[in-house]
Amino acid sequence: MFPLILLSIALGIILGAAYPEQMIAIGWIGQLFINLLKLIVLPLIFSALVGAITSMGGLKRLSSVGIYTLGYVLLSVSIAVMIGLVLLNVFKPGIGIPPSLILANATPTDLKPMPLSAYLLTLFPPNIVSAAAKYEIMPIVFFSIVFSIACLSVGKTANPVIDFFVGLRDVLIKMITWLMYLTPIGLFSLLGTAVAQAEIEHLLLKSLGSMLLFITIFLFGLTLQIAWQLALITLVAGKNPIKFMKSASNALITAFATSSSMATLPVTLLVAKEQNINEDVARFVLPLATTINLAGTAMYEAVSALFFCQILGFDLSIPAQIGVFLTAILAGMGATGIPEGGLITMVMVLRSVSVPVSAIGLLLPFDRILDRFRTMTNVCGDLACSVMVDYAQKKLKARR
Ligand code: ASP
Repeated sequence: MFPLILLSIALGIILGAAYPEQMIAIGWIGQLFINLLKLIVLPLIFSALVGAITSMGGLKRLSSVGIYTLGYVLLSVSIAVMIGLVLLNVFKPGIGIPPSLILANATPTDLKPMPLSAYLLTLFPPNIVSAAAKYEIMPIVFFSIVFSIACLSVGKTANPVIDFFVGLRDVLIKMITWLMYLTPIGLFSLLGTAVAQAEIEHLLLKSLGSMLLFITIFLFGLTLQIAWQLALITLVAGKNPIKFMKSASNALITAFATSSSMATLPVTLLVAKEQNINEDVARFVLPLATTINLAGTAMYEAVSALFFCQILGFDLSIPAQIGVFLTAILAGMGATGIPEGGLITMVMVLRSVSVPVSAIGLLLPFDRILDRFRTMTNVCGDLACSVMVDYAQKKLKARR
């Protein structure tokens, strides 16, 4: 399958550049592929979490897996933001870019940040089905965790409910394995359309010069983020990094093509199975990590905020940078794994340093491509998280 996938990607890129209009005309095929992934992902998150939590063997193990996952997520998102801040402070890519590029677009109708109370209300919506319909993933994750804990505490009479969701999960996983046969054609269309669009809009060349340093620094930062996690799973968990990347490649390519870590989740779960990660651990950790472990996104928010400050000539003090550090962590963890999901929470980070939100406009021409790379980084981080949590759990078990 892998050579076929590579072939379809190469063909997509070549044909996208050579026949952009024709490729855009068949763009619906890629959309269909994304729709099929998204069709499965919400019931899968729910049933995988219920199945995993109820078979964990008690609240003690559940809380231990939960704490390890949260610990890893906090560590990885903080390191990502730190890498971004250090790189921006060293290379200062924004200096020399005229501030008018940002200020010209500033309008009084800038987006308003969401107050905390409104955010909390979105986490606990009155109607879980309508939240699901809007792809609000965080409420679904919360609901599934509480639902599963309730099933555990009800005991025997909840068994049919649990059996139903475990059965549903297995059926959905079967559907994903079928869907994977469509991957080459889906990727062909998605990447071909992306290249075709860039070709038609001439985005690849337009104003690339001044942004090039920023883009290079950001991509370098993402590479460092993947590299330290690979080193961690190699040195601590004893994984072979080449084998890991090889089996992760399916999920990474899907992440690149769909720009959505959430839509990639079904594939990420299949990769975890190939990696021999305990299934219950993977089915708990991966949906949760997909929701909160958006380290690539958090790095993007931090570097963009600093980049804009450099353009505007704001000299950020250490406390102000600590503010960016903290808000970028929150923004990364609160962002949704959908295409350009990070742009929404970026508002919060920009506000913290008084940069007009319209500055985001400067990034928009490049965002679609940068989004693909940060989604890949997010998905790679989710897999690394599941490897480390699984490793820690196995260690704990061996010690007992
Ligand atoms: N597209 C990213 C993801 O799905 C989120 C973002 O950075 O915009 O992980």
